[in-house]
Amino acid sequence: MSTIQNNLDTIKASIPGGVTLVAVSKTKPISDIQEAYNAGQRVFGENKIQEMVSKYDELPKDIQWHMIGHLQRNKVKYMAHFVDLIHGVDSLKTLKEINKQAQKHNRIIKCLLQAKIAMEDSKFGLSFSEIETILSSDIVELPNIKIVGCMGMATFTSDTSQLQKEFSSLQRFFDTLKEKNPQMTILSMGMSGDYPLAIENGSTMIRVGSSIFGARNYNP
Ligand SMILES: *Cc1c(COP(=O)(O)O)cnc(C)c1O
Repeated sequence: MSTIQNNLDTIKASIPGGVTLVAVSKTKPISDIQEAYNAGQRVFGENKIQEMVSKYDELPKDIQWHMIGHLQRNKVKYMAHFVDLIHGVDSLKTLKEINKQAQKHNRIIKCLLQAKIAMEDSKFGLSFSEIETILSSDIVELPNIKIVGCMGMATFTSDTSQLQKEFSSLQRFFDTLKEKNPQMTILSMGMSGDYPLAIENGSTMIRVGSSIFGARNYNP
C-alpha cells in the first residue's frame, strides 16, 4: 500500500463520518493526486488559482476542487467553470465578482466566508461583525453564489489552549449564524497540526495537506 493511501486511510478512520476531508495538494505533483484519487479521495484543495486550473485540466473530472487560498479577484474567472467550493472569501466585492463569473457559466458557486480568528496579522479574514454585515446586505441579489458556511485558520502555534480559544470562538459564532441562515452548514476549520481539536470544536470540514502528502518543499 502506498504511503499516501495509508495516510488517507489513517486519517479517515480517525474522523467522524460527518466531517469532510479536503486533501490539500498545493505544490504536489499530479502523480500524488492521482494516487490519492485511486485510493478513493475526491475532494482536493489548492491555494493558487493557476495551479488548480492546470491540475483540473489534467485530472479526472469527478474531482471536487476547493480553492482554499486568498483570492485575487482578477483570477476568479479562470476557475469559475469548475470550482466546487471557495473557502477564503473575505469581502462583498469578491462575492460580487464570483457571482458575475458564475453567471457566465450558468452555475451557482458555493462560498465560505473566512473569519479572522488568529492572532497573527498575516492571516486574512473578516471580523464576526463584518460577516454579519455581509449576510444582511444585498447578497440576495447575487443568485449565482451560495454562502454555505465559514472558514477559519487558527494561529500557527502548539499552544493548545490558544487553539482551543480560537476554534471555540468561531464555533459559538457559527452556531448563532446558523439559526438565521439555515443554508450555512459547513464550518471549515483544522489542518494537519490541529484538526482533531478543530473537530472537537464543531468543524465539519478539515483541510489536510502534509499529513497526507508529506512535507511541502516550499511554503507559499
Ligand atoms: C496549506 C493549507 C492547509 C493545509 O496545511 P497542512 O498543515 O499541510 O495540513 C490548510 N488550509 C489552508 C488555507 C492552507 O493554505
